[in-house]
Amino acid sequence: MDNLMQDFPLRVTNIIDHAAKYHPNRKIISKDTSGKIIETNYNQIRKNSLKVSSALNDMGIKKGDVIGVMAWNNHRHLEVWYGIPGAGAINHNLNPRLFSEQLIYIINHAEDKMLIIDSDLVPVIEKIIDQCPLVKACVILCDENVLPENNLPNAISYEKLLSTGNENFSWIKGEETDACGICYTSGTTGNPKGVVYTHRSNTLHALTQAAPDMLNLSSQDSIMPVVPLFHANGWSIAYTAPLVGASIIFPGGDMSPKSLYEMLEKGVTITAAVPTVWLLLLSFLENEKRTLSSLKRVVIGGSSCPRSVIEDFQNKYGVRVLHAWGMTELSPLGTICSFKPEVERLDDKEKLNVQETTGHPPFGVDLKITDDNQTEIAWDGETQGDLWCKGVAVVKRYLKMEEDAVDDESWFNTGDVATIDSNGYMRITDRSKDVIKSGGEWISSIDLENAAVGHPDVAEAAAVGVPHPKWDERPILVIVTKDGKEADKNSIIDHVANKIAKWQKPDDVLFVPEIPHTATGKISKLELRKVISELNYKHPDTH
Ligand code: ADP
Repeated sequence: MDNLMQDFPLRVTNIIDHAAKYHPNRKIISKDTSGKIIETNYNQIRKNSLKVSSALNDMGIKKGDVIGVMAWNNHRHLEVWYGIPGAGAINHNLNPRLFSEQLIYIINHAEDKMLIIDSDLVPVIEKIIDQCPLVKACVILCDENVLPENNLPNAISYEKLLSTGNENFSWIKGEETDACGICYTSGTTGNPKGVVYTHRSNTLHALTQAAPDMLNLSSQDSIMPVVPLFHANGWSIAYTAPLVGASIIFPGGDMSPKSLYEMLEKGVTITAAVPTVWLLLLSFLENEKRTLSSLKRVVIGGSSCPRSVIEDFQNKYGVRVLHAWGMTELSPLGTICSFKPEVERLDDKEKLNVQETTGHPPFGVDLKITDDNQTEIAWDGETQGDLWCKGVAVVKRYLKMEEDAVDDESWFNTGDVATIDSNGYMRITDRSKDVIKSGGEWISSIDLENAAVGHPDVAEAAAVGVPHPKWDERPILVIVTKDGKEADKNSIIDHVANKIAKWQKPDDVLFVPEIPHTATGKISKLELRKVISELNYKHPDTH
């Protein structure tokens, strides 16, 4: 039988059209680079996005061209977020915290023709621009009268670009499977790899992410993406919020807890970021004796969320934690820990145990865990194995790679190690390369770190395996203390030992002034191992 249903292409421009038509006055509040607060709405955002599309079109940007964007979370970023795909082009998110070599590599590898940059990030691009020969023009996200002096090719201000644009432009048409955005993985081992999202994958992802058991996002919400739009597809918030007509509060580039707190108090009901951001905010709230007046939910992902953070948010501030797992390759949502009825029935302590897992997937994401022979293993909440994923917004092949990133049945090997329990709640125990292997058994570095962070003297903790003559590897903790001074090792080890099996107990504690982080704010185990070797650290049993 013929297909008798309409052809409604899943293009991301339909998302902003919908927001502007049905939620035109919903507030978008944004902090710009000078600290000024700007208020706009979806109607205005769409008009400016159309101007961006038409101006890019006039400048010769064609379908499939790639435009690099290096910007903080602000309203202009949202306008180009839609203006670029509206011109048929592809939005390549650039993380300003990457090393120069990595930035050069990804700008050249993705073949960025133009760059759009926040004005305070111009120096980052100036340093590398002579090594990016394909970039022919730059747009600086500022007013004409504050355009900074620069040596960038054909640089114009954003306001100048808008002034040449036409708000009655029609979005460039195309297929729903056209490329829409590119985000590179952080490349902790080897070169970064490009994940190319399509209009279709981004739209489907936003639909699934908004669902009640996921973000449960609606037009009643004000969402503040603290996670940068350049990290892992911006956790898709710039698609999901307009899709449901939620208000957006953009915090700008000021990540200080004080600034985040002030922005949260502008009526934010839900926010999202990696755990390190929340550790700092929680200590600010504690020290300054502040409360959170509107916040109801906080999405925490990107790395494992310590139990103490979940407890603090929920017990002290009445904010429900939604622990989430995702990856750049998944657009990025994999799972969220919301309560199914079988969890809602549990007592508070048991619920907290469940919240230490990263929860369950939405429709459109499928998971499995396997042993070394790639045979599926039991969902008993105990047995750990390699985590695989497939879904509507999961990578098939990285940009310009010859081989698929998935097996014959479309399973993508996430590189994570996990357990899944009988209710389908998944718990990440490690990245496979970070697992500590002691006497043939695996010890979860994440479990040790999360337990250590609960100790009152500990600001940040990393667990690593160090060579051991009898057990191959044994775990030690690398600790940054709250006051920067060395604390009592045994007290920390005993605190952790209370929460894990006896044989997993860390053998030693190494105090350091700081722990190295990746460009996305996670602990960099690679760099940390270098630090440990530079310190010439040896396991106590080898002395
Ligand atoms: P980057 O490494 O550049 O930050 P991603 O955001 O794509 O890139 O990182 C994805 C990885 O982050 C996952 O494979 C997993 O190892 C880790 N991760 C994400 N969320 C969690 C979580 N809630 N708990 C533990 N690990 C997580």
